[in-house]
Amino acid sequence: MNSEELWQAVLAQIQLNISQANFATWFKDTRIVNRDKEKIIIFVPNSFAKEWLENKYHKSIFKILRSLDEGIKEVEYEIGKTGLKVAKETPSFFPSLTEQLEFPEFKVDRETNLNPRYTFENFIVGPFNELPQAAAWAVSKNPGFVYNPLFIYGGVGLGKTHLLQAVGNEIAKNFSKKKIKYIPCEKFTSGIIASIRNHDVENFKSKYQTIDVLIIDDVQFLTGKEKTQEEFFHIFNSLYEKNKQIVLSSDKSPKAIPALAERLRSRFEGGMTADISLPDFETRVAILKAKAQEKEAVFPDEIYSYIATEIQKNIRELEGALNQLLAFQKLKNQIPDLETTKNLLKKFISNPPKIANPKKIIQAIAEFYDLKEKEMKDPSRKKEVVKPRQIAMYLLREILKCSYPYIGQKFGGRDHTTAIHACEKIKKEMEKNENLREEIGLIQQRISSD
Ligand code: ADP
Ligand code: MG
Repeated sequence: MNSEELWQAVLAQIQLNISQANFATWFKDTRIVNRDKEKIIIFVPNSFAKEWLENKYHKSIFKILRSLDEGIKEVEYEIGKTGLKVAKETPSFFPSLTEQLEFPEFKVDRETNLNPRYTFENFIVGPFNELPQAAAWAVSKNPGFVYNPLFIYGGVGLGKTHLLQAVGNEIAKNFSKKKIKYIPCEKFTSGIIASIRNHDVENFKSKYQTIDVLIIDDVQFLTGKEKTQEEFFHIFNSLYEKNKQIVLSSDKSPKAIPALAERLRSRFEGGMTADISLPDFETRVAILKAKAQEKEAVFPDEIYSYIATEIQKNIRELEGALNQLLAFQKLKNQIPDLETTKNLLKKFISNPPKIANPKKIIQAIAEFYDLKEKEMKDPSRKKEVVKPRQIAMYLLREILKCSYPYIGQKFGGRDHTTAIHACEKIKKEMEKNENLREEIGLIQQRISSD
């Protein structure tokens, strides 16, 4: 393994264990610059990243490095120009590994923010994502005129970004004159905030007004940001009126995004909303096979089945598991058998089955509705808090079979009758309210997925 491959193998493992946001923040543009027998020097782009890697991730990095090369005794971090050459260095006999792991940023078009890696061609379709895929495809063929806006939502790692980017790439291919912009909502928000600070909002908005296809990823981040929502509302309207295509994604349906201005919510719902649910077993296997094939690797069927059985809820994790096997194959120059696979993947697969506990459930709900845990327990009777609180009570009962007095007590010493009332109310409401069922389904996914 050369240094680059070694570092990519390390990154592959780290990626599985931390959130994508953290991964992108701290590991983007890092690389091994120097490696002698015992010591490795890693270049990081800034002092922030240096500090963070040293204080927070050093132990893991070191451990993983040692598991790949026992000779390594020391790791140091230096700030340096990390360059963008990483993906291009001499192709190894197994070039796919680096491709697989390279950061999207490497090839991203500066104007559009589109990454050519995400296309319809390599987006596997199954019953769980058929509808959003079809809608996205239709939009790419006739932007501005079929579904506007197109709003895609679903859990983490299930292909929202991939699909949004695919729309952008496909439109760029079919309509070379159209001005396309993909932007993560957080970046969009910080742009607006900066422009407000610089008294430059009009200029900011006018830039957006020239766009033909605006793609904003993860709009749940608009939650509670009133000023941003307001400016976005104007941009949205002016594009919409000119039949410009708008594509949005979120981790929940427009209805379930807390603190979203009603007028924006109704705009989001005004076109087509489609959700990506969880991939079935066959599709999980198909995805693994396709990804392996992309890397010119083939594993025995039992290995695909094993991974697809163990990892069910997150396509990014499926990819991660495959990366592990690819790294092994590269290192040992042999295809891992089932036993070896189990061993290699043990760390993240056989983590004891994710067992929920009250804290986790409450945390997941607070996070979903963008509340503080404390708010859920406080006496507030505000609508935004009451509903999540009732859902929390309901889920404590459903998932953990907690007693009503216990549930009451968990929420600021409320009476057990309050808990009973909450559980029954949610149960009844779920029978007639599909949105609520869906919301609770998404929350349950979160509870069991991390
Ligand atoms: P999200 O934005 O929903 O969190 P991503 O779009 O980032 O998820 O997807 C996570 C990873 O899984 C990406 O590498 C993506 O290419 C891959 N992926 C997701 N869905 C599919 C699919 N249907 N076919 C192939 N790859 C997929
Ligand atoms: Mg995404």
